[in-house]
Amino acid sequence: MKQYQDLNTLLQQLLSQCQPLYSQGKVADYIPALAQVAPQQAAIAIATLDGNIYSAGAAEQHFSLQSISKIFGLVMAMNRLGDELWQRVNMEPSGQPFNSIVQLEWEQGIPRNPVINAGAILVADVLVSHYSASKTAFLTFLRRLIGIETIYADQQVYLSELEHGNRNAALAYLMKSFGNIEAEVPQVLEHYFHQCATAVNCQQLSRALLFLANRGVQPHSNEQICSRRDAHRVNAILSTSGMYDQSGEFAFKVGLPAKSGVGGAIVAIVPQFGVITAWSPPLNRFGNSVVAMQLISQLAEELGLSLF
Ligand code: GLN
Repeated sequence: MKQYQDLNTLLQQLLSQCQPLYSQGKVADYIPALAQVAPQQAAIAIATLDGNIYSAGAAEQHFSLQSISKIFGLVMAMNRLGDELWQRVNMEPSGQPFNSIVQLEWEQGIPRNPVINAGAILVADVLVSHYSASKTAFLTFLRRLIGIETIYADQQVYLSELEHGNRNAALAYLMKSFGNIEAEVPQVLEHYFHQCATAVNCQQLSRALLFLANRGVQPHSNEQICSRRDAHRVNAILSTSGMYDQSGEFAFKVGLPAKSGVGGAIVAIVPQFGVITAWSPPLNRFGNSVVAMQLISQLAEELGLSLF
């Protein structure tokens, strides 16, 4: 990787270049709590394995994790269920929008991968079925990863998601009809929406995911969060499916395992180096943040980060 004297200055330059692109996107408006977010906000933060944080913009501004929460849920479910999980969810890219339902019927209620909505709802079922208080267990896991106790779900986002969750309910009931959901659907959806509503900032999110850049070990606590094999597997899934039907283009332009959420954040894992989080609410037609995509693409190009 190219060495950079002053990463903070580089991030600031990239942010100034990319931020004006926000007007090309549209903030998520499927729930009122997201439709009200100010569109011109933007931030980027890099956490490195040696314990540094570099950032520019509103890197301490909180946003909801949304689909990025699928990574944490997946790691928890892999730790609980082991290889049995892969009998209930596949590991293939979907090439479809994140909330697509068509493949689920063709494939007998087995979601294409764990980071589209159907797959993440399946994972939520595993967590609800294996933890007595899965919502708290999720927050506890995130708090442990970041190293602070003050991580909560945004109640307004949570309640809004619950009220407008028909599409996700359809996915859950279809899987239930094929016998691939064990718990009661309303309970599974509550867990899923709660984890989506978890509020973090760019610095915290980068820090939380460092174990994926470090073979499963969280560097600041030296704790083994998942096995080395599972860290590689999660990165493989993020590389092929983390950006939904734009995953091919992201691999082509950036070349890093990554995950986006409709809250406007994108995380990218740089193995053996660190984690990049970029955030800006307006989204492109794939549900990926316009400015965050551009920030990460330019940074990856500048530093020569592509794994390919
Ligand atoms: N809460 C959103 C949903 O379930 C998460 C989707 C996303 O971030 N892409 O539709």
